Amino acid sequence: MNQACNVKVDLIERFARFSLIFLSIFIFALAGCTTAPQDIKSSTGASIENRTPSSPDEQNVQSKEGSSKSDTSTIDTKVDVKPVVPENKQPEGELKVHFIDVGQGASQLIIGPTGKTMLIDAGDNNMEKTVVGYLQYQKISKIDILIGTHPDADHIGGLDKVIDNFDIGKIYMPKVQSNTKTFESVLLSIQNKNLKVTTAKAGLTLDWEPGIDVKMIAPGKTYNDDNDMSAVVHLTFGQTSFLFTGDAEVKSEQDMISSGVDLKSDVLLVGHHGSKSSTSQKFLDKVNPTYAVIQVGKGNNYGHPTQEILKRLNDKGVKVYRNDEQGNIIFTSNGNDITVSNNPSKYSADVNNGQSPPNEDVAPAVSQSNKDDLGTLSISANIDNKAPAQNATVTVTIKVIDGKGNPVSNANVTLKLHYKSTVTTYEGKTNSDGVSTLPFKIGRASKGFTVDGDITVTFGGKSSNAKVSFTPQ
Ligand SMILES: [Zn+2]
Repeated sequence: MNQACNVKVDLIERFARFSLIFLSIFIFALAGCTTAPQDIKSSTGASIENRTPSSPDEQNVQSKEGSSKSDTSTIDTKVDVKPVVPENKQPEGELKVHFIDVGQGASQLIIGPTGKTMLIDAGDNNMEKTVVGYLQYQKISKIDILIGTHPDADHIGGLDKVIDNFDIGKIYMPKVQSNTKTFESVLLSIQNKNLKVTTAKAGLTLDWEPGIDVKMIAPGKTYNDDNDMSAVVHLTFGQTSFLFTGDAEVKSEQDMISSGVDLKSDVLLVGHHGSKSSTSQKFLDKVNPTYAVIQVGKGNNYGHPTQEILKRLNDKGVKVYRNDEQGNIIFTSNGNDITVSNNPSKYSADVNNGQSPPNEDVAPAVSQSNKDDLGTLSISANIDNKAPAQNATVTVTIKVIDGKGNPVSNANVTLKLHYKSTVTTYEGKTNSDGVSTLPFKIGRASKGFTVDGDITVTFGGKSSNAKVSFTPQ
């Protein structure tokens, strides 16, 4: 190629680059316009929050709902409810707290002495029929207070169907936006019924039953982690008290302690399904419970509850109840004494977390492979940026240890990122410290859409899982 031709090519290139810049600016300007409706959409929570409830319309909306969604009317005939409580009526002067077995997730139903109801969380999407059926079995038609502790699917997944199927008094949710389908369908159900969401935060006193003190004691501030944004409720009935913690972790626990609020409770819902990121020794000492409940599903992929927390509870002499072992668990308080529907879980110091032995053939097939592996491969995963900008590089660091706490080297690590429209997989191996570092560029991921990262570690025929997530800004 001769000189002149080169110059020409160079000129064309320059022109092309120049027009490309121009074009990008133009597209940017356009994008500025098109993202505007998206902003409005993402602020639906805020607009719902400011809306005043129009109760006369509620009935209309509700019947419209019923006719448009034919599946809602058939729910009660299909539900699989475990008849745990023989009596449906609330005896005079008794408070009942039901820790509903929703598998891996959380849901607590509280029924006051005069029959007022409060529902905290409603399990994952696949458990909504169970929750709706359970409430119907209790002959409940109205939920006076409905609380969605935080936007995680294992807590708010069933809220939409609860809102669709029952009269709802007041709804509390923390000020956290989430772009998941689950969250959006909860907002839609709220909108359809013209309900107003009250922001869940520390310092609120909930108006529920006369003589029963219900206080929201967290979140005390805005946290980066959604779990720490969990609404935490402390309930006192006479001499008895209950603490419902959502998935609040150590940061929120510390803030609850330093706020000086009364944490002492007879019954503690163990934070974050018994994950070691919650239930710090300090917090447990302050709460000083007689009973603790862990809401977990059999053989879940998270390794919940952790041996560390089970040991901590056992060392303190706390009686532990678990949905994966005891099914639905119901506490009854007469204001002086508390009785429990089930026998407590037996503490076992072995690595299987006290779960059934691996050779038990009645265990659900899905969980079998994972159950016996959890004790031998333990993963901790960390993400260095939970709110990365477009095109940023994010690094996930995974550490793998065995049952004795020694690092596991040469383990295969797979990270699957679930973007809005695609799944991207990264692979690596752990080094001699048991550490694998997986850096990746997020490209042009959709803003505000939380990308879940599923981590699988395999070594010597054993495998274990962990999760990370990030939300591009
Ligand atoms: Zn959870």
